[in-house]
Amino acid sequence: MPHHTLALSRVFTTLASHAADALLPRACAGCAQPLARGACRAGWCAPCADALVSPAGRCGQCAIESLTPLCESCRTTPPPFTCTVVLGAYAPPLDRIVRALKFNRQPALGAALAAALAPIVQRELAQLPAGHPRHRVVAVPLSDERLAERGYNQSLLIARPLARALGLPIDPTALRRQRAGPPQSRLSPGARATNVAQAFVATRPHHEPVLLVDDVMTTGATLAAASYALIRAGAPSVTCVIVARTAPPDVSRCPGPP
Ligand SMILES: [Zn+2]
Ligand SMILES: [Zn+2]
Repeated sequence: MPHHTLALSRVFTTLASHAADALLPRACAGCAQPLARGACRAGWCAPCADALVSPAGRCGQCAIESLTPLCESCRTTPPPFTCTVVLGAYAPPLDRIVRALKFNRQPALGAALAAALAPIVQRELAQLPAGHPRHRVVAVPLSDERLAERGYNQSLLIARPLARALGLPIDPTALRRQRAGPPQSRLSPGARATNVAQAFVATRPHHEPVLLVDDVMTTGATLAAASYALIRAGAPSVTCVIVARTAPPDVSRCPGPP
């Protein structure tokens, strides 16, 4: 390569790297403290990184905080998914990071959350017997209206880099979210469950176990409905992979110590 071409290509490489740096967040997504340039490419500071994973005991199936390996709700009415892998509690700093991804369009945060989740998912998959079929990664889709409004699906921003990190195939169009039904608040509890249950359809038959990725699990109804759709379409099992789990209702109502 002639010398001046080489020099020019170095200039372009430097410019590209500066442009990539400009896309990285300047403040910690967890606590809003300024991030030193190049100090943390993840998007959050070191103390927030330490606080992401909460030490609480969790139900193995739905990941709700639980003193027993299986919570009361999963014992009495088991959800359709086999288990739930979770990064941490939907509480500071993780709730702020999730909201930054959801409402501020920061794909770098999706990649960073995927990088934090990957080893936890890997540990879960390592427990499966040898020869277990490979999982396929599916993100919980948004409805067309919500997608048009937001412009992107935050769960897919996590699912794509997660699939890459795990070396697993991703199917971005495996599920479709139907038009939103009547507002949940106007329905009886039974009708609410039916309303959510019919929210998803699989776009094709499924023969592989699925890793179903979403940002937050609250009641679990959305992930249950998406799992039912995949299982109805033939998926042998569904493992949920979520960034954050909300606290059980009685814990979130607790006013805490005076
Ligand atoms: Zn922070
Ligand atoms: Zn449970």
